[in-house]
Amino acid sequence: FEYAAPANEPVLNYAPGSAERAALKKQLAAFKAEVADIPMYIGGKEIRTGKTVDLRPPHEIKHKLGHFHMGEASHVKSAIAAALAAREKWANMEWEQRAGIFLRAAELLATKYRYHINAATMLGQSKNPYQAEIDSACELIDFLRYNVHFLSEIYRQQPASAPGIHNRTEYRPLEGFVLAVTPFNFTAIAGNLPTSAAMCGNVVVWKPANTQVFAANTIMKVLIEAGLPDGVINLVYAGGPLIGEICFADPHFAGIHFTGSTGVFQTMWKTIGENISKYKSYPRIVGETGGKDFVLVHKSADVAIAVTALARGAFEYQGQKCSAASRAYIPSNLAEEIKSKLVAELKTMKMGTTEDFSNFINAVIDERSFDKIATYIDNAKKDPTVKIIAGGNYSKTEGYFIEPTVIEATDPKYVTMCEEIFGPVLTIHTYDAEKFEEIMVTVDTTSEYALTGAIIAQDRYAVELATKKLVNSAGNFYINDKPTGAVVGQQPFGGARASGTNDKAGSMLNLYRWLSARSIKETF
Ligand code: GLU
Repeated sequence: FEYAAPANEPVLNYAPGSAERAALKKQLAAFKAEVADIPMYIGGKEIRTGKTVDLRPPHEIKHKLGHFHMGEASHVKSAIAAALAAREKWANMEWEQRAGIFLRAAELLATKYRYHINAATMLGQSKNPYQAEIDSACELIDFLRYNVHFLSEIYRQQPASAPGIHNRTEYRPLEGFVLAVTPFNFTAIAGNLPTSAAMCGNVVVWKPANTQVFAANTIMKVLIEAGLPDGVINLVYAGGPLIGEICFADPHFAGIHFTGSTGVFQTMWKTIGENISKYKSYPRIVGETGGKDFVLVHKSADVAIAVTALARGAFEYQGQKCSAASRAYIPSNLAEEIKSKLVAELKTMKMGTTEDFSNFINAVIDERSFDKIATYIDNAKKDPTVKIIAGGNYSKTEGYFIEPTVIEATDPKYVTMCEEIFGPVLTIHTYDAEKFEEIMVTVDTTSEYALTGAIIAQDRYAVELATKKLVNSAGNFYINDKPTGAVVGQQPFGGARASGTNDKAGSMLNLYRWLSARSIKETF
């Protein structure tokens, strides 16, 4: 059947006095009034082990939101067994029926559970209401609907026939199970990685980040309410290395759908390589990993556009987007104006809890992340070659708060121009405005990543030049915009080089990876 390209889910703005604002506040209060007891879901059963891990809002670490039950090796094994037991029926279910489940889940998220999923993301991952809305409501809903659309397009693609010959292609799921390992920073990605593979007829073992469990639990409940059969997606909580060890040693392991760090991805790839002769089929390896995303400002730039691209691109969700602007190259003719306007802009960004909707900046995800980011800032404070021109303060008494921080570096290869920090730290380097060609070489060679990047320029020759010269430096390239906020169906998202396999999330390119085609020729 055909499912036409849907409209993107409209973004609610939670304006003061609006009904949606009141509804979201009510849901936040409801979550805070209870202590959630979150099970694993294996083969359709809720599993509680009694070995629990507490969940606390990163911006209010004294408050307990709930806890989840940790699994052990036996649970990972039973999740694989449950997936394999569900496989045949699910793989052979009519595509229309499978699609109906995910479209219903999208509808439930858009209506009945919109405030649940947003409040869960705001409390569990410390996102402000607008950042939650574009992620856990709109992007997740868009992934579900668009993947149905793209898959319906793929299924219709058929080969040519010839006189006396009838050819067709069957887009079968992979033979085995898919492991989805999902990150904390986007609820949409957490929902997309297991569901995109499952939609293609695959069965899935899903391991979310411990810091995203509160929202993952809501996604799972919505999928179950939408009619997902038992065992199709099994949500397990256990240590990443343990899950990897068991899944990658299993002959039925058929693919990994991953978003997370480059180091973890490379370790997994090596383990899969070592086990390669064990598997029934060559596993599909799909990963989106790190970024060191740039904003390159040309001497012809509109300063207001540059300042917005930097302020929003670097500091939305405390810079915890793989796509976040974290290194900026600004031309000498505009440097003073850009810096002073950027510093002024950052002063307007309030920091605090997510329940106070006027806060733009909330907390970073956990103590480990906080300490890592603080170390970069401390090192910058001690280094005479760099200057902190905004922020630089942090505190972890109430929550993991770090001010939006801007480091100015004369050396374009200073450590924070090169390494991924994954926090609210932007480093800027001023270049000779007449040396645009040279700075493009620096932009291209400074990082091993190639996720996102932006050129800010009014001169169309400069735009053209940067688009051509930086061809391999970013999988998502923005002209006169911030490098974050890709919209499903509009800017397919993913990077190359060390940033991942570039199988663009929410596109046909991604869905093809979860299909194993069979060509059938019949001669008359
Ligand atoms: N798709 C998101 C964006 O465009 C980033 C995803 C990520 O951080 O992994 O901002």
